[in-house]
Amino acid sequence: MLQLRSYLEDRWIAGEGHGASLHDPASGAVLAQASTAGLDLGAALHHARSVGGPALRAMTFAQRGKLLVDLSKAIHAHRDELLELSRTNTGTTLKDGKFDVDGGTATMAAYGKLGEELGDRRYLLDGDQETIGRSPRFSGQHVKVPRRGVAVHINAFNFPVWGFAEKLACAFLAGMPVLTKPGTSTALPAHRVGEIIVDSGLLPGGAWALLCGSAGDLLDHLGSQDVVAFTGSAATGAKIRGHGNVIARSVRVNVEADSLNAAVVGPDVETDSETWDLFLREVSREIAQKSGQKCTATRRVFVPESLLDDAIAGLTERLAEYPAGNPSDEGVRMGTLAAPAQMADVCHGLSQLAQVCDIVHGEIPTSTDGPALVKPLLLVCKNPADTPIVHELEVFGPSTTLMPYAGNATEVAELVNRGDGGLVATVYSDDLAFAGTVLLEIAPYHGRVLLGSSRIAEHSTGPGMVLPSLVHGGPGRAGDGMELGGIRGLNLYTQTCAVQGARPMLDKILGT
Ligand code: NAP
Repeated sequence: MLQLRSYLEDRWIAGEGHGASLHDPASGAVLAQASTAGLDLGAALHHARSVGGPALRAMTFAQRGKLLVDLSKAIHAHRDELLELSRTNTGTTLKDGKFDVDGGTATMAAYGKLGEELGDRRYLLDGDQETIGRSPRFSGQHVKVPRRGVAVHINAFNFPVWGFAEKLACAFLAGMPVLTKPGTSTALPAHRVGEIIVDSGLLPGGAWALLCGSAGDLLDHLGSQDVVAFTGSAATGAKIRGHGNVIARSVRVNVEADSLNAAVVGPDVETDSETWDLFLREVSREIAQKSGQKCTATRRVFVPESLLDDAIAGLTERLAEYPAGNPSDEGVRMGTLAAPAQMADVCHGLSQLAQVCDIVHGEIPTSTDGPALVKPLLLVCKNPADTPIVHELEVFGPSTTLMPYAGNATEVAELVNRGDGGLVATVYSDDLAFAGTVLLEIAPYHGRVLLGSSRIAEHSTGPGMVLPSLVHGGPGRAGDGMELGGIRGLNLYTQTCAVQGARPMLDKILGT
């Protein structure tokens, strides 16, 4: 049996015992095991801080950017192997595997390019110098300098490569060493990426570490200059934020949690329009892509009452384009859930929704034995204003709930905001007044809003695609985190310091 090792203090090392099992969710076969028992995580963090940190900080942005580009190429060279591991360990089709693997390398390359553009500096200037006294000689300048700790990246199971790469790209470019902890159940692709990174010989010593298996006592060893970037469930996010040592040392924590992402169809949308077609195409894809196991997947769909039947019929037809099954089988366009353990969670969640909603397409599996397969499912909740659970329960699988509304912009915005904070929402409408009203009502509750209209129907990347140039994260329930967004992605890993002094001195020291 393959025993996954961790990479700590610049060497591969296995934990004691067998630890947790990693499965092929289509067959149930155990593929590997991972344990972190007995590993000295305090020493690993110390090594990263004392060896990796200085090495990365000594590099310019251009050099860190080149490192990211080279790493991205090294990983891309093993693309086929990584896609195969995605299929066996996460149940994805080839196309869905590419979404994860190519998304990861593309994000690293995008941050690499940003580094090249930032050039020979080692830290960022934030804005211009400002005169702060009566004399123009007394001036102030904000700078953003890399924090002196370790960026600890705790990832969810659903994007083992993208989640790894997007976090690492921002931290490395900012100048912080990284410890990556993948979700254990799907750690095989992440572990292989780690081997590729190490074998590339590109990294300075101490710059990167990998923890395969449970987090153990990792949080106990964090210090005030460290950063935790967490992606996963709201419950685990709350545990990390509430951890005694994290609180005591004011460890910076970024949480990317779950979210009941919404889509709204405007009352202006005709069923023979491009915007309607875009709506059907994107929502069906959000249900089926990666079996709905994306944090950005659309979970709630609000349609005007008069369009509800058309929406059910249209989505049902589109979902037929996603035959579900073993991702190795020909013709399958939607694979399994990422791990057998999620079958019970997804089926239980769907049963809870089915108590207050009608199932209008698909069925809840009656057995949780066998392949971890749930086929696409559509639910309808006729009275969303009085049904709290549809705004609160995230079922992390291939389903969405359709809900009618009267066609009023502020009414539907209020329903969307019942999700209490989301990663992304989509408004399908060509009516400026409707789209504008909904946008401004829901924007405070969301990290991203996609305005789906006929004008971008051909070009839309859909709500599910997170882009390196736009921020990812949302308030409230979504964790109140923020990642990516171009240069904004470096904020998490830098300290903003306001420097006051004589203007010529600041000019000379800071190169302003
Ligand atoms: P999870 O159970 O919360 O686990 C997430 C990560 O936290 C895993 O690496 C897990 O390790 C680790 N972990 C668990 N308990 C911990 C603790 N006490 N201390 C430190 N680390 C701990 O979430 P998941 O099941 O992997 O992911 C699914 C959820 O993630 C969904 O709710 C989804 O919406 C959300 N998600 C959000 C985003 C986003 O960007 N907002 C993206 C993807 C997924 P082990 O695997 O070893 O238990």
